[in-house]
Amino acid sequence: MEERLKRCVALGKEAAKEGQVASYIPELKKGNPEDVGICIVDLQGKVYGAGEFKKNFTLQSITKVISLLLALEDRGAEEVFRHVHMEPTGDSFNSIMSFEVKNPTKPFNPMINAGAMVVSSLILGDSPEERIQRLLAFTDRLSGTPGHVIDERVYRSEKETGDRNRSLAYFMKSTGIMEGNTEEILDLYFMQCSILGNCQDIAAMGAVLASNGRHPFTGERILKKENARIVKTIMTTCGMYDASGEFAVSCGIPAKSGVGGGILGAVPGVLGVGTFGPALDRKGNSLAGIRMLEYLAHDMDLSIF
Ligand code: GLU
Repeated sequence: MEERLKRCVALGKEAAKEGQVASYIPELKKGNPEDVGICIVDLQGKVYGAGEFKKNFTLQSITKVISLLLALEDRGAEEVFRHVHMEPTGDSFNSIMSFEVKNPTKPFNPMINAGAMVVSSLILGDSPEERIQRLLAFTDRLSGTPGHVIDERVYRSEKETGDRNRSLAYFMKSTGIMEGNTEEILDLYFMQCSILGNCQDIAAMGAVLASNGRHPFTGERILKKENARIVKTIMTTCGMYDASGEFAVSCGIPAKSGVGGGILGAVPGVLGVGTFGPALDRKGNSLAGIRMLEYLAHDMDLSIF
């Protein structure tokens, strides 16, 4: 396995040359496009890594998986999906068009920004502080590693420049789609995007999903089986932005990417995988991550289809 992962990193580094680090959040521009890492956690809890797999990056949209799981555990699926659909959009993750033109009664899915904000608004807690602390504690549990924190610089950078997300949030408020205090929900969303983690953290989360909710490190059940199933399904249909269909064909692993350069993958019944490489393609997916996951999927016959 070590050799296989080293080969992945070499392929990932090659692929990364064609991409660009995200720049629309100024602080993300500091990412090094040459960083590439991969980690696998199998269902017995064994960890394999290569490259920069211990290097922290902001999890960004990967936290949409974490917040959806927490909201599902907190509120149950019926309540969550009263507020958000489960349909892919084919539009970009921060699209406003999907609201104005298509005029839905709720956001299309929990993996786009609008849907994720609505999902975060459902996390239980008496104050924004309590909600973010619950989300961080849940990140610790899912990854099996304590001490997750927010990158304050990225958080401030997102908050200062997050006008597109503000527009989405206030649009949803104006139409009654999103309830609650809009500024507090936005703040929670900016903070959650700025949670730091590494490839091992997201590989372990993938392994929890792959094992239907049991933690590979402890054997403890931390998710309802049904919630793990729902989230893996939504990752498959919506997790790779508006390239989810193509990725399902080329790789076939339920996955969620983030503009910080991470991708979380869950191969049901087999393993969790986490990749990192901040050079992105035009849709926001890590080029190194996609290349490594495609290689792994073919080499180990991991496609679910
Ligand atoms: N914080 C980012 C945003 O809302 C997350 C985007 C992403 O990773 O897809 O724009």
